[in-house]
Amino acid sequence: MRMQGKRVIVTGGASGIGLASVERCLEEGASVVIADLEESKGAHRAAELDGKHAGRCLFKACDVTDTAQVDRMFAEAVDELGGVDAVFNNAGIGGIAPSDEVSDEEFLRIIDINLSGVFRVARAALRVMYRQGSGSIVNCASILGVFGQSQTAAYTAAKGGVVNMTRSLAIEAAPKGVRVNAIGPGYIDTPLLEALDDDMIQGLIGLHPLGRLGRPEEVANGFLFLASDEASFVTGTTLMVDGGFTAGKS
Ligand code: NDP
Repeated sequence: MRMQGKRVIVTGGASGIGLASVERCLEEGASVVIADLEESKGAHRAAELDGKHAGRCLFKACDVTDTAQVDRMFAEAVDELGGVDAVFNNAGIGGIAPSDEVSDEEFLRIIDINLSGVFRVARAALRVMYRQGSGSIVNCASILGVFGQSQTAAYTAAKGGVVNMTRSLAIEAAPKGVRVNAIGPGYIDTPLLEALDDDMIQGLIGLHPLGRLGRPEEVANGFLFLASDEASFVTGTTLMVDGGFTAGKS
């Protein structure tokens, strides 16, 4: 059991990569808080998993754009679990549109969830983990945190910001016993890709040398490594889980 007794929070944990990460942590012995937007979806998933894993899964409604909700979610998690050992800062949204048509509202909404939201959650996590003198934060970046892509200015800006913010937080938190890393998924088969048609999906598959989309549990395994004590000398890095996307062209 690689996460035996660990207390974990996963934002955006009711769907896709987050949900797979919740399931892997539970299988490895952790207690897990699913923190997500929608009460009905999240509470239902948590109840199912709680029944399967001996009462070790709970749901907290939390919008990462709202500092008060983030801080309250952490306070309740600490209250109920006694502390927080690992956080997957995973909540995020996509966004594809021609840059000359993007409104301020659309641009700022993507930044608010995918970058500022990651900071709000990391800040709350640091406050708890500094008191403990230990902890691991994993921020969800993307291949689009290190590569550009047409019509995704806000998304790539946010994910690039996550990659470099992770380095700064890691340096700052290291003396206090807290590790901060990021994970960079390639295109992963989750509800986030539902808006894309078959031709677009085939095009994306062709960008991955391994010749397919990734599966949510493959990213979850990367998170598990970074969150666990197996990564005790790893901080400030971005682990790409991308089927070779960022390795280059053939
Ligand atoms: P999903 O849409 O399956 O899951 C994202 C979850 O985050 C959903 O449950 C969503 O809720 C929730 N969420 C959205 N906004 C907020 C918010 N403001 N506060 C709290 N929770 C919120 O997406 P993925 O699993 O694919 O994505 C997870 C992460 O992985 C994201 O950061 C994404 O950018 C990143 N990523 C994904 C890739 C992919 O190809 N799938 C590639 C690279 C990175 P709701 O459904 O109600 O909106």
